[in-house]
Amino acid sequence: MARRATKIVATLGPASSDPDTLERILRAGVNVVRLNFSHGTAQDHIDRAALVREVSQRAGREVAIMADLQGPKIRVGKFADGKVMLEPGTKFVLDASRTEPGDLAGVGLDYKELPRDVKPGDVLLLNDGLIVLTVDRVKGDQVHTTVKLGGILSNNKGINKQGGGLTAPALTAKDMEDIRTAMSFQADYVAVSFPKTATDMEMARQLCNVAAAEFRHKPALIAKIERAEAIPNLESILKASDGIMVARGDLAVEVGNAAVPALQKRMIRLAREHDKVVITATQMMESMITAPVPTRAEVSDVANAVLDGTDAVMLSAETASGKYPVETVEQMAAICAEAEMAEDVKLDADFTGMSFSRIDHSIAMGALFTAYHLGCKAIVALTDSGSTALWMSRHRIHIPIYALTPKLVTQRKMALYRNVRPLLMDQSAERDMALADAEAHLKKRGIMASGDIYAITCGEPMGAPGGTNMLKIVRAE
Ligand code: PGA
Ligand code: MN
Repeated sequence: MARRATKIVATLGPASSDPDTLERILRAGVNVVRLNFSHGTAQDHIDRAALVREVSQRAGREVAIMADLQGPKIRVGKFADGKVMLEPGTKFVLDASRTEPGDLAGVGLDYKELPRDVKPGDVLLLNDGLIVLTVDRVKGDQVHTTVKLGGILSNNKGINKQGGGLTAPALTAKDMEDIRTAMSFQADYVAVSFPKTATDMEMARQLCNVAAAEFRHKPALIAKIERAEAIPNLESILKASDGIMVARGDLAVEVGNAAVPALQKRMIRLAREHDKVVITATQMMESMITAPVPTRAEVSDVANAVLDGTDAVMLSAETASGKYPVETVEQMAAICAEAEMAEDVKLDADFTGMSFSRIDHSIAMGALFTAYHLGCKAIVALTDSGSTALWMSRHRIHIPIYALTPKLVTQRKMALYRNVRPLLMDQSAERDMALADAEAHLKKRGIMASGDIYAITCGEPMGAPGGTNMLKIVRAE
């Protein structure tokens, strides 16, 4: 397998939850496994998480687990026949108090607040924007609309409002319960759906903090950027999160398809500038749900996300319910590796104007700068919390970063960081011993050979988080 810096997040589902397929997708290159809490029971996720831990051990590939919360259900209700065919120009009523199943004239709502969130002239997009309704008037609990773009509307399809403005809070009672479930199996990341402000993320953080003692664990938090309102708040949301997801599915419906590519580039740039991680998601290899090869456009999309500097690219239905989960991961991995080779790396430009005030951050930047100009074979970071590796990985460099940590949770968390190879290694409290151990470890894995020059960072005294204060340039013995 070619060396690859960009990470792959794969959603588990019926197509990938048997031990054999799971092992094969992990071996094919999955770094982070996503459990989608929109489907299945708490017990399903607990069982899947246990299986992931077991299989990843067997495959010798420690992966991170990301629990993706469902968020508010802004959906229509059910239909008598399961679905209706809406014709353009016809009238259709979304009715919050309707209890009988839907028909051609209208349907009930899972989201009871909708009549209060819309006004005449608003545009509602259903089923990922495949159906478009314009609001004529609101009468009590009823939203009267005209069908602009028709098609088949089936049970429980999602509703978005063009330009944003749906008031549902980001964290539902179910999400709060699911956060606890995720913490019970030590989910490395929790993704919050539909946050609009930093407050939504702070609320999620608080819930985690409250439960942290009980579960002896704190997950990192990912804000899924998929609401129009989140865009002007990007910087404050980033500050309140550990990373973001460019959730192109819902985002495209709210801000318009055409606005998404530029937003993707901006989000990736901003995330890296704020020392946060970023995942690019949705429809990346969509056609591979049913076909053994991707389209040319999908190949370009994945490659361009890599060139934009994303930490990870994500697979949803492709691995959850598609026909070719293993092939999809293999091909995505190959596209990433190839795109990285074509990448034009200009560390110097990246470094001009950088400012930092922490000692450990300066060491991380010093290691990058030195390794780049000296042409080191590798950068090695002995890290407790993973911060040194995170800082290093926010800059473009072709030299691989090996992050050696004694902590399993840190190793897993770093699985998402671009260009970081996380390795588990016990750390001696004695500096020279720890450095020698690190070199032996990398040699044993065939990463380093005698005569190779590498940059290594550590902290004295050893093992204190945030204590990195040393950079050494070494020629391997
Ligand atoms: P979802 O989020 O798959 O949970 O909807 C991703 C997206 O909206 O793109
Ligand atoms: Mn979404």
